[in-house]
Amino acid sequence: MNNCIFCKIIKKEVKSDLVYEDEEVIGFNDIYPKSPVHILVVPKKHIQSVNVLKDEDKELIGKMVLVARDLAKERNIFETGYRLTFNTGKDAGQTVDHIHLHLMGGKKLLFA
Ligand code: 5GP
Ligand code: ZN
Repeated sequence: MNNCIFCKIIKKEVKSDLVYEDEEVIGFNDIYPKSPVHILVVPKKHIQSVNVLKDEDKELIGKMVLVARDLAKERNIFETGYRLTFNTGKDAGQTVDHIHLHLMGGKKLLFA
């Protein structure tokens, strides 16, 4: 999508601190981390939010969860625990309209 910041990151038009990339998914550090580990796992396909997911996206979403789980292992928060979050819509605080999975951990997380 033309004006989407995450599409620009995916196309490397905007710089990011990449921690993972394959043909379908990227992972990069959140620019304003809310925990010691705060990675965004993002599909290369532009999907606005969970609200518009289709049956055909099932595998992609499953893959995002597994990528996040593997990154949790890599960052040594697999045992201590971590949170995976899809903020969806205004009340959840979704600010970027390109679906993304937050991987957060490295400290005791309180509910916001
Ligand atoms: P949301 O609030 O939509 O669930 O999460 C969007 C996240 O993207 C926020 O935590 C915000 O800090 C992060 N973010 C927004 N713009 C950029 C950017 O240009 N680069 C990176 N690395 N993170 C961003
Ligand atoms: Zn996008």
